[in-house]
Amino acid sequence: MYYPNSPWRLSSVSQSQFRLDRPDQLDGYTGVISVVIGAFDERGHNNKTAWGSTADEIAKEVWDQITKSLQRSSDGAPPPPQFYAIDKNLLFEGPGGTLSSNRTPFLVNSADRVGAFPERPGAYGVHMRHFVFAGTYLQTRTRLVTMEAANESARHAVNAIIRHGRAASGPNTGQLCPIFDPEEREPDELQLLHRIDAELLARGLPHWMDILVVEPQALALLDRGDGARGQSVMGALISVLEEAGGLGGELLRLIRLQIVGGV
Ligand SMILES: Cc1cc2nc3c(=O)[nH]c(=O)nc-3n(C[C@H](O)[C@H](O)[C@H](O)COP(=O)(O)OP(=O)(O)OC[C@H]3O[C@@H](n4cnc5c(N)ncnc54)[C@H](O)[C@@H]3O)c2cc1C
Repeated sequence: MYYPNSPWRLSSVSQSQFRLDRPDQLDGYTGVISVVIGAFDERGHNNKTAWGSTADEIAKEVWDQITKSLQRSSDGAPPPPQFYAIDKNLLFEGPGGTLSSNRTPFLVNSADRVGAFPERPGAYGVHMRHFVFAGTYLQTRTRLVTMEAANESARHAVNAIIRHGRAASGPNTGQLCPIFDPEEREPDELQLLHRIDAELLARGLPHWMDILVVEPQALALLDRGDGARGQSVMGALISVLEEAGGLGGELLRLIRLQIVGGV
């Protein structure tokens, strides 16, 4: 879930439905959510940034932003959490126990690394006849540290095992997993956005959503609650498209045709 109007740009994932041993009343809690903070430098409702906060302050402020964001929802806010845990790689060694460093900053590969697969470290092979390594730190064509890269890496590792088996037992052993470059399989509908993105990047310009101030405008409409359309982000975005003028309007009209279609 994305909380678009939260100052720290929060998003969250509900965890418990994925657990084999789901928590129940006997555990004293039934739900677990993971929250990702997207903007560590922005000031929250308490006028502090995540960097300037202690662990307790981060937990309290995150919950405050979530509940305020959910006030628009007819379901209301969920019950307050009983426990929280913060990523152990965030170190609270600043003055008064404030956040001072992040031992595992998120890595996003840069745009000029397209097609750089062979140069990435970590080829796949069977080591000592028993070990095959897999993981996002190894060679993948997926250029982002996500589950997709982890899955692709697993397929490379499986193929390494099959090739090893073929060398020992003959060419018909096992069936190789298909491996593809996800950037060669993007839907045609997204090509327009791709071209716009490439053009803006080549000119050193920001993302079109930032140029057209789409998100703040959509949020302002949400805050105004403009009738039925103001009740959803998509409705608010469509209103932005309709209100935009000039070249910006033309760009948004094209994007609307391609992406939003008849919504
Ligand atoms: C909070 C968070 C949210 C995320 N959300 C998303 C998302 O929404 N979508 C998405 O696609 N990706 C998401 N990711 C990224 C995704 O989870 C990872 O990219 C992916 O799980 C990496 O898989 P992996 O197999 O390479 O490594 P991991 O899943 O990290 O597995 C490595 C394993 O090795 C074990 N290990 C480490 N050292 C040793 C050792 N010495 N001996 C034995 N075992 C060891 C670890 O305990 C771990 O179980 C998220 C990551 C985080 C942290």
